[in-house]
Amino acid sequence: MEKLLNSGMVDKFRNWIEESDRIVLTCHVRPDGDAIGSTLGMMHLLQALGKRASVVVPDMPPRSLSFLPAFKEITIYTRHEEYSRRLMSEADLIICSDFNKLSRQDALAELTGAATCRKVMVDHHQDPDDFCDLTFSYPDMSSASELMFRIIAAMGYYTQLDRQAATCICTGIITDTRNFSVNCKNPDIYEVLTRLLEKGVDKTRIVREALMMQSLSSLRLKTYALSEKMEIFERWHAAVTTLDSAELERFGYERGDTEGLVNEPLNVRGIYFSFFLRQDEDCVKVSARSIEDFPVSKICEDLYGGGGHIMAAGAEFHGTLEECRRILIDAIPSYLKYLPQRPQKVE
Ligand code: MN
Repeated sequence: MEKLLNSGMVDKFRNWIEESDRIVLTCHVRPDGDAIGSTLGMMHLLQALGKRASVVVPDMPPRSLSFLPAFKEITIYTRHEEYSRRLMSEADLIICSDFNKLSRQDALAELTGAATCRKVMVDHHQDPDDFCDLTFSYPDMSSASELMFRIIAAMGYYTQLDRQAATCICTGIITDTRNFSVNCKNPDIYEVLTRLLEKGVDKTRIVREALMMQSLSSLRLKTYALSEKMEIFERWHAAVTTLDSAELERFGYERGDTEGLVNEPLNVRGIYFSFFLRQDEDCVKVSARSIEDFPVSKICEDLYGGGGHIMAAGAEFHGTLEECRRILIDAIPSYLKYLPQRPQKVE
């Protein structure tokens, strides 16, 4: 299982860890389960190895991850700017996990970029930028957390990995694969899962805490959006859902409350792609998901200058919600050639 990693790189990473005393782990803005799971998991291991390890993130992680061991020890740049600056500048080694471009860190990018110590990237997104001294980039991997686990095992640290570290890493894999429903074709991932469960990880609890729990206002907002605001274009096999600022306010919207909403229409047979447009303070946030390789990333790129993965993409549109919706609806017919030959009927 560990053979796909280049052993020279693994040895180098291990040596750099051994030579370092202060190690900072960092991730992308609006950190998700994978970003937090991979960094916090590695932090636990490094602390067990006697290192002064800390996690510094660009902004507030979601509350759904607060069950993770040592979640409270995470340093949030937007809240503790000076302390973040000190940790970053005093670090002997910085591990950048789950992102491939400094710009994905917003304001924190300045500190990561300015740090003169060694930097290592552990990531699974396409086309990494060259800002690290050592780059582990595996786009076929389910998650940065799975990659982190494989690197840890290849470095010979499996024994030192405790239940807390394993819980964090397992959470990253579970959130990025939506509990092993996407990005999990490679049979090796189940071997990784086995070895994490052997550490005493409570998978049922992770699934409930990180994937299923939601606030009452979030449930009500999503239910409203699906029943009142989801437009189904049967002949196009498409769903478009919009929420304006008055609606968000009415339901007491907080960041994260519409998480997963864009996926819901795809559970209807015959719907191949779904767009969700939300009026935020300074832009319209576009999220798109699809099945069977329908290229929503291309639509996001062509229409709004966004991008992402072929079946999971997004963009920011500067204009009104209605303009954003109109542009999309006018353009959809020219992309229908990417649907399967005989798409299933919407029913
Ligand atoms: Mn990820």
